Amino acid sequence: MLFDGERALETVRRLTVDVGCRFAGTDNERRAAELLRDLLVEYGYADARLDPFPIDLWQVADERLEVDGLGELPCEGLLGSEDAPQGVSGPLVYVEGGEECNLGEHCRGAILLVVAELGRKIEAIRRWDPAGVVVLETTPHLNPRRHNIGHEARRRFGALPAVRVRHDVAERLLRCRGRRATLALRSWHTEAQAFNVIADLPGSTHPDEIVVVCGHMDSTYDGPGTLDNAAGTAVVWELARVFRRLGSRRTLRFVAFSGEEQGLRGSIHYAKRLRRDDQRAKKDKDFVPSGGRTELDRHRLVVNVDVQGALLATNGAWITGHPDLGAAVRLLAAESGPFFTVHEACYSSDNAPLSDAGVPAVSFGRAGPNNFYGHTDGDAFELCSAEGLQASGRFVQEFLRRYVTEPRMLPFPREIPDEHRRHVQNYFKERFMLRLDEGVED
Ligand SMILES: [Zn+2]
Repeated sequence: MLFDGERALETVRRLTVDVGCRFAGTDNERRAAELLRDLLVEYGYADARLDPFPIDLWQVADERLEVDGLGELPCEGLLGSEDAPQGVSGPLVYVEGGEECNLGEHCRGAILLVVAELGRKIEAIRRWDPAGVVVLETTPHLNPRRHNIGHEARRRFGALPAVRVRHDVAERLLRCRGRRATLALRSWHTEAQAFNVIADLPGSTHPDEIVVVCGHMDSTYDGPGTLDNAAGTAVVWELARVFRRLGSRRTLRFVAFSGEEQGLRGSIHYAKRLRRDDQRAKKDKDFVPSGGRTELDRHRLVVNVDVQGALLATNGAWITGHPDLGAAVRLLAAESGPFFTVHEACYSSDNAPLSDAGVPAVSFGRAGPNNFYGHTDGDAFELCSAEGLQASGRFVQEFLRRYVTEPRMLPFPREIPDEHRRHVQNYFKERFMLRLDEGVED
């Protein structure tokens, strides 16, 4: 019973062509979640379920950028922007990356041209009270990514009317510095529900040892999210089909997380619940520290699959955990191929919230030139190949068989070296401006 690349490709097609964009909180995302749940039921997972969680859903109704002498230029409103339905106007001022040294009195009332994501830069930018911001795409030939201002940044620093423009438009704007521009934007926000999809294959001899095998099934606002990450989800789903037949000594928990593209919302929700139950149980005076293990304690390893499916690509594995975890990937790759580069770094994906709660993780990804289209409408089904899916799918299958589903003992200790723990904490601090153990609103 082997991983079948053609079958995985069919799952990718259903997610990206039949459903399409799967922005968390939209009807399409719910359709994708139901489709994935139904597939698991078909494979024999009677307990396949949707796990709902709340999510801020931003949508942009329309956006307009006009420059004196140039007329209207194409742009995309940033999700989470401040509304400016009547439009705001000011001279175009270039402030490079928006660092403190590039900001000043000349920014007051201006439309700022900024390279790079806004994120925490909004704090410094807003101090000078500009009228609005145009984020410049730096990669040629790429449609702009709508992106989020970032929930945490918005909550802490507020927002601004902001749009993003393609690289060629950016070049035109840079030649027009000082000219008057008008930016208008109408967006709205609703409290919506998103869904993780979960099913368990109970372990035959060690049901209390849970290994999460996961990938995120949601996409960004703009595209079908094929390589990132319908492909990774399809790899996980094909593994679910295969191991349902092969069986496992330990419990395999297959999860398609949602809201990853909006800041790991689904996996933060999942890890937060485990953490809360764990803390509650351990506060109870009747809790038996040695025998009474919580569900979080029973989580032994995360195997995350994010960015897959390209044929022209190379394999990477990102490790948070004991050095033997990386050594296992390295040895298996050296023995059977394909080639893998092993990184000791926190992969920016759904592994991170669980590792922050103390669960070791390995993430598998495939990097190639077509990753360039990630998070845009260019990440289309045509980029995905059955061979590409099969190359990593069979490797992950063998990794799971050898180290998780068949051995008498799980060879990796449930521990995270201090240095890796710092990687994870820094990742959350830099990217989200928060520490998960201080609590996160979801
Ligand atoms: Zn991804």
